[in-house]
Amino acid sequence: MEVQERRTYKAVIGLEFHVHLATTTKMFCGCRVTYGDPPNTHTCPVCLGHPGALPVTNEKAVELGVMAGLALNCDVADRAIFARKNYFYPDLPKGYQISQFDEPICTGGHIDVPTPEGRIRVGITRLHLEEDAAKNVHVGTSGRMHGSVGSLVDFNRGGTPLMEIVTEPDIPSPEAARATANQLKDILRAVGVSEADMEKGQLRCDANVSIRNPDGTFGTKTELKNMNSFRFVERGLTRELERQREILENGGRIEQTTLHYDPETDEVHELRSKEYAHDYRYFPEPDLLPLELSSSYVREIEERLPELPDQMLARFIEQYGLSAYDASVLTSDRKLASFYEAVAAEVDPKQASNWISGDLRALLNEAGTDISDSRVTSEHMKELIELVAAGKVSRSAARTALDTVFETGDPPSAIVEREGLASVGSDELSDVVDETISANPDEAGRVRGGDKKVLGFLVGQVMKATRGNADGGRVRELLMEKLGS
Ligand code: ADP
Ligand code: ZN
Ligand code: MG
Repeated sequence: MEVQERRTYKAVIGLEFHVHLATTTKMFCGCRVTYGDPPNTHTCPVCLGHPGALPVTNEKAVELGVMAGLALNCDVADRAIFARKNYFYPDLPKGYQISQFDEPICTGGHIDVPTPEGRIRVGITRLHLEEDAAKNVHVGTSGRMHGSVGSLVDFNRGGTPLMEIVTEPDIPSPEAARATANQLKDILRAVGVSEADMEKGQLRCDANVSIRNPDGTFGTKTELKNMNSFRFVERGLTRELERQREILENGGRIEQTTLHYDPETDEVHELRSKEYAHDYRYFPEPDLLPLELSSSYVREIEERLPELPDQMLARFIEQYGLSAYDASVLTSDRKLASFYEAVAAEVDPKQASNWISGDLRALLNEAGTDISDSRVTSEHMKELIELVAAGKVSRSAARTALDTVFETGDPPSAIVEREGLASVGSDELSDVVDETISANPDEAGRVRGGDKKVLGFLVGQVMKATRGNADGGRVRELLMEKLGS
C-alpha cells in the first residue's frame, strides 16, 4: 500500500505600504497638498518636472517620517540619501521618482499585532521617503485604462510626500495581514503622521505572498498590487493562496509575478510584466543634499511622540481596571478614548466603560457618526451615570434618556424631568408593590407557597405600573419581603 504524504500549506506574507504624510505642502516644492480640488490647480515647475527646476526637501515630511519610524520601533539613520528611481510613465513628468534606495531614513523595527492566531511580532524592514506620482484619469465608462477612450493626467497629486513602509515576511495568514494593516494604520493615526484615509488614497497596500516549501524554506512569491481596502487585502490574499495551492497540488510551479485583485469577480489577474519592470537604475539624486539626522534631532522628536495604541491599551486596563476587550474597544478610536477619560475622571470608570463602549457606541454605530460629531458630551454622560448611581433613575430609564440626549443634545436631568423618567420614590414604590400584590392574589399566594417562578411575573407587573422607572432588583427584594419568601 502506498502511503500518501500530506503536505501542509503554510502561508508567508509580507506587506508594503504607501502612506501620504500629513503635511500642508508637497515633498520637494511649495504646492499645497489637497484632495478633490479641480485637476492641475496645485502645480509648479518643480512638480511638473520642468527642466532646470530644483527640488527642496520638505522638513516637516522628514520629521513625520522619523516620527513614524520611532513609533514602529525602527532605528533612525544618522544619514539618509535620496535617489532617482528611473522609469517612464505619463504620471511621472521628470522620468524619475525621487525616492530612497540603499540609505533610507529608518530600518529594523517591529510592531506587535493582535491576530486570530494570537499576538504576533511583525518586523519592519525599512521606512523611506519619496514623492507620489500624479494621477492618471482614464476617460470612458469603466474608469480603467482598459476600454477607455483616452487618459488625462492630474498633477495635483504629483509630488505629494509619501512614506513607504516594508514589513518582513512574518505574517502567517490573510487574517493576520489584515490585522497587521489595521494595527499599522492605528499607529500612524495615533502619532498623527497621516490621516491614513484609504478612501482618499492616503494609504495603499501591496501584499507579497508565497507558500512555504515542504522543507520550511520560502517558496516563490507573487505580489498583489495596490489594494485600497484592508478587507480586499484579506480577500485577495485568500484567493491568491488558493490559486497557488491549486498549482502546487497539481505538481506545477509558482511563477514570480505581479497581480491585480478584482474584488468584484474575486479573481486575480496578471499585470503586464513590462509595466512593472524592476530595472530602475537607481542613483543618488544630485540635486539634493544627504539628510543628516543628528541624535539630538531624533531625541527631540522622540520626546514629542504621543502615547501609542499599545501603551494606551495597557494603561486603560491598569488605570481603570477594565477588561482587555473593553479597553481595546475604547482605545480603538482616539476621540472615543479621550471622551471616556473625561467621563472616567468623574464617575466609576467601570460604569463609564459600560455606557460608552456599550450603549453610546451602539448609538454612534447605528447613526454612522463619530463621537466628535455627536451631541452627547462627556458632561452629559457623567450626569447620566450619576443619576443612576444616586438611584434617581433606573438603568433602563437612563438608557431611554440617552437616546433623547443623542437626538437633542439636551442635558439628561432636563430630559428625565420632561419625560417623567425619574425613579419612583421608596414610599411610592412600596405602595405600588402592595397594590400589585392585592391585584394579583393568586400569583401572590403561589409565591408565598414557595413558587419562585411567579415572582418574575409580579416584578414585571410592578415595573409596568411604574412605567419602568424602578430598579428591578429593588422591586424583587420588596416583593420577597412582603410575601415572606
Ligand atoms: P523584491 O525584491 O521583490 O522587492 P523584497 O525582498 O524587497 O522583494 O521584499 C518585498 C516584500 O516581499 C517584503 O514585504 C517582504 O517581506 C516580502 N517577501 C519577501 N520574500 C517573500 C516570500 N517568499 N513570501 C512572501 N513575502 C515575501
Ligand atoms: Zn509644485
Ligand atoms: Mg524590494
